[in-house]
Amino acid sequence: MSLIESAMMLAPELIKHRRYFHQNAEVSDELPKTKAYVKKELEKLGLEVLELSKSSLVVNIKGDLPGKTFLLRGDMDALPLTELTDLEFKCEDPVMHACGHDFHTSMLLGAAKLLVENKDKIQGTVKLMFQEAEETLIGAKAMINEGLLENPKVDAAMMIHVFAGIPAPTGLIFYMVEGPASASSDWFDITIQGKGGHGAMPHQSVDPLIVMSKIHLGLSEINSREVGADKFLVITPCVLQGGTAGNIIPDTAFMQGTIRTFDKEVREFAKTRLTEIAEGIGKTYRCSVDVKLYRGCPSLINNKDVRATIVKATQGLLGPQAVIDASLIPEGGGGRMGGSEDFAFISELVPSTMLGLAANLPHADGKSYGQHHPKVMFDEKALPVGAAVYANAAIYWLTENK
Ligand SMILES: [Zn+2]
Ligand SMILES: [Zn+2]
Repeated sequence: MSLIESAMMLAPELIKHRRYFHQNAEVSDELPKTKAYVKKELEKLGLEVLELSKSSLVVNIKGDLPGKTFLLRGDMDALPLTELTDLEFKCEDPVMHACGHDFHTSMLLGAAKLLVENKDKIQGTVKLMFQEAEETLIGAKAMINEGLLENPKVDAAMMIHVFAGIPAPTGLIFYMVEGPASASSDWFDITIQGKGGHGAMPHQSVDPLIVMSKIHLGLSEINSREVGADKFLVITPCVLQGGTAGNIIPDTAFMQGTIRTFDKEVREFAKTRLTEIAEGIGKTYRCSVDVKLYRGCPSLINNKDVRATIVKATQGLLGPQAVIDASLIPEGGGGRMGGSEDFAFISELVPSTMLGLAANLPHADGKSYGQHHPKVMFDEKALPVGAAVYANAAIYWLTENK
């Protein structure tokens, strides 16, 4: 039986896994139920399960033949969001698998089974990484710090992300551009310390709200006046807070937002200029300004060779028409992901690649919703495809690079 046929046989099991994860969605690195379920399933396959960080798991599937080590990543965390679908297995807590990581976990469990059944074809070791805290961009790094990429040393890696809300048939695989394929991400907090007072006598106060407005406008000019049109940069303040009543000038104001780009130099430039502008405006208007940059995540680097090998492997599995360049999809972001992906930390250390898997499920009224939307739905027909693509990619890369 071919790998794809074996994966199709696993469909009912993969759907069962996925619905359990969906109904028991958990966030960040606190995934007790998800972790226990995954661990039990892996142990059923006779695999030795390694626990890393708070909720992550790793297994090594050693082939019958010697060779290198290929890593497959599946993330397991959901989002703090109240689900607005009518799915019978929706999560009752205000937590939702709105990014499809319940799919990734199930697909990787499916791949584990396929790989165990096909040990005779594995020339080396496949390392499976069940990851916590992707959405908070801290999980991959935590696992790396605890030795994920050693013992055995990982030679190359890949991940799959499912996508809803895009005009593509379920099961279509798409590959991103070479080089930076997801945006880097940095969060910023800006705290403005003024001097509070009576709203009727502003001259006796130092109004932090005025300063916040000027900083807000100042930041928008980094992109429009200081970075070339050929470079992508987004600096978005998403929280502007200050004040409690109509007659009180507050003592402090607070802003929070995010910086996204695909370019390492632009990223550093944006962070420097954001700090300079915020502090400079504060100084001009007699406020002290504190800038904090955190949750930094680089761009995912799509390695040329690994990308080419995995695309070829997947075209061999599904047929060339089922594996396309992401820039051909109308909402494919020109072949790059505007969002961030913390698999980027792995791609900085080992040659890596990512694939997209179309899995949109429209509502009864024909409407579709994208990732992170409380109404987003994913098509379970993509599950066996994802499992087969994972397993096949590992076997193929190890054979090509023995
Ligand atoms: Zn997400
Ligand atoms: Zn995601």
